[in-house]
Amino acid sequence: MSEQNDDRPPPKPLVTGVASALSPMVRRVLAPNPGVMTGPGTNTYLVGIDEVAVIDPGIDDDGHLQAIVGCGGDRIRWILCTHTHPDHSPGAAALKARTGAEVLAFESRDGLEVDSAIDDGFVIEATEFRLRAVHTPGHASNHLCYLLEEERLLFSGDHIMQGSTVVIAPPDGDMTRYLDSLRRVRDLRLRAIAPGHGHLIDEPVAVIDDYISHRLEREQHVIDALSAGDRTPSAIVARVYPDLIDELVPRARQSVHAHLRKLGSDGRAKSADVDDPEAEWSLISS
Ligand SMILES: [Zn+2]
Repeated sequence: MSEQNDDRPPPKPLVTGVASALSPMVRRVLAPNPGVMTGPGTNTYLVGIDEVAVIDPGIDDDGHLQAIVGCGGDRIRWILCTHTHPDHSPGAAALKARTGAEVLAFESRDGLEVDSAIDDGFVIEATEFRLRAVHTPGHASNHLCYLLEEERLLFSGDHIMQGSTVVIAPPDGDMTRYLDSLRRVRDLRLRAIAPGHGHLIDEPVAVIDDYISHRLEREQHVIDALSAGDRTPSAIVARVYPDLIDELVPRARQSVHAHLRKLGSDGRAKSADVDDPEAEWSLISS
């Protein structure tokens, strides 16, 4: 679903510890945290040559920070986080200590301390590039994507990933907002997406359309499960995701809960307690 059409060159390999150039302005360093949720690991991006913005320092790992500093050196002026989850922002403090760069994100949270809180429309005006923040709540309420205007390249964090599924975990994760944020990003006339996990995505609109239709398909499966008499997220997961590995079951339950909450706000389903992850739900007959 990305840069893997047969007639194209294979994507640059994702290897830790080495910066790989993706464009004249952009380099990527992979953090050594592969996993079920993180795919090959977290991508840290460096934007710019004379003045460098680091997007998602990743985990606080000495070797990884060394690779980032080795690539951007004392030209690193900004450290941007897409959101405050543990695979994206914990390296910010140590990177700031080594470079003196300014830490920018939507808010201080989950251990991240920002120097400035930034919001939708905030722009870094560097000598060589403009990088604009796009608020994209859904995966996390404080999620920002960053648009490199010169290249129409979007750094999407966990809003859009390549090769793994984005988790929507209520209450901070919100399916209604997630779909709205996908539609918003779809309209940005992107040339490519640089995700927080996985390879570059060079057919942004096709991939985003896939994302949206996949979620709406899942929503229909949840509606079908409710019609068939399932009441709780656990029961719905057992029907909708019968072959899931154990490690992913809690995530699937969160995702189903997120769908149920969306159906609730759409007026199509109801529950006595929309915040309780194991509450019973039923359809509202129209
Ligand atoms: Zn992530």
